[in-house]
Amino acid sequence: MKVLVIGGGAREHALCRSLSLDPDVSALHCAPGNAGIAEVATLHGVDAQDGAAVAELALGLGLGADDLVVVGPEAPLVAGVADAVRERGVPVFGPSARAAELEGSKAFAKDVMAAAGVPTARAYVCTTPEEVDTALDAFGPPYVVKDDGLAAGKGVVVTEDVAAAKAHALACGRVVIEEFLDGPEVSLFAVTDGETVVPLQPAQDFKRAHDNDEGPNTGGMGAYSPLPWADPKLVDEVLASVLQPTVDELRRRGTPFSGLLYAGLAITSRGVRVIEFNARFGDPETQVVLARLRTPLAGLLHAAATGRLAAFPPLRWDEGAAVTVVVAAANYPASPRTGDVIEGLADVAAQDGPETYVLHAGTRADDDGRVVSAGGRVLSVTATGTDLAQARERAYRAVGRISLPGSHHRSDIALRAAVESAGA
Ligand code: AMP
Repeated sequence: MKVLVIGGGAREHALCRSLSLDPDVSALHCAPGNAGIAEVATLHGVDAQDGAAVAELALGLGLGADDLVVVGPEAPLVAGVADAVRERGVPVFGPSARAAELEGSKAFAKDVMAAAGVPTARAYVCTTPEEVDTALDAFGPPYVVKDDGLAAGKGVVVTEDVAAAKAHALACGRVVIEEFLDGPEVSLFAVTDGETVVPLQPAQDFKRAHDNDEGPNTGGMGAYSPLPWADPKLVDEVLASVLQPTVDELRRRGTPFSGLLYAGLAITSRGVRVIEFNARFGDPETQVVLARLRTPLAGLLHAAATGRLAAFPPLRWDEGAAVTVVVAAANYPASPRTGDVIEGLADVAAQDGPETYVLHAGTRADDDGRVVSAGGRVLSVTATGTDLAQARERAYRAVGRISLPGSHHRSDIALRAAVESAGA
């Protein structure tokens, strides 16, 4: 199978790494990729958002019905890149633009959830200052105000300050204002062909920039899997109450969702509630979920892309744990500095075992062949171990070998879960 991955973050590096380890993959390509992905895939300088260009690339590389295009990020999906490739007869892992509205519009997602009976926060869609005031009053603090459109995880403000809530609503235009959900968050991914839904293992990510969940929201500063504190029945429960009804509702509407359905969940005192859906693999949770998946990835994604998931064998998982720590650039998330030289990558490769590896996000090779920072989140340092404590220790040892001027990372990724599960 020839595979082309679209995107260039650590999520795509994780996808490419797993695909490169799949014996069924004969050739691996990525557009646009990054300096780390270049080590496992052939890179192509094609605009990920340009459906026609991506389809031309796939055909030019000789991809056909037995091959696969995997679209990583949300923006190309919402822009219709999966549709453009599918129209040319190449299987694509990723939803159509219309189905990707599940992520692209929070108002659309709320409508689908209401129709499918999926538990979520009560919410109002607001466009005028009067509607905003009414909604904020109805729920009280803490206030949750979400930009209706795509905002790379940064369009949400959760605040006790009513003036800040109003200011965010006015700055966005169309917003969703909803009740505050209390309780730990879980990210659950499912692979689907539009009908059959195959859940992956749950993970947790860390959205705030600094330790103890302080500082601004980010795209994600780290993740771990599995969740030793979660109810073992959680996945089956969410499959039955959230994932399957959502997939069924989208099929019923004539816009079947095939690809990766990501449920961001809050485990509240009143039960599981959906915080949001995404239409693609999450970053950085993908790094830890794929680290534990033993089933070869290409076959699974191809089965989803071609409507053959019902006959797919049960997934196999590593019993151990995985932890990812994100190394972010100076001034991330406000205005990340780029162009700094990253050192120590070779030391990780040489001194740490195969359980520890560095996935690249915003990196590129400069004219002298050095790897330099090229984005806000620069690296996802990932490790597996028999338990979370061992995976953490390995990941942080590798982080300690890497130097990037001005960079920062959280020191408490998976800490509480590791301590609690060790004490249990
Ligand atoms: P979203 O982009 O919808 O995932 O929101 C980003 C983050 O904001 C979530 O991961 C939560 O931490 C927080 N958040 C979103 N909605 C709510 C809510 N209704 N109650 C509490 N926190 C929320």
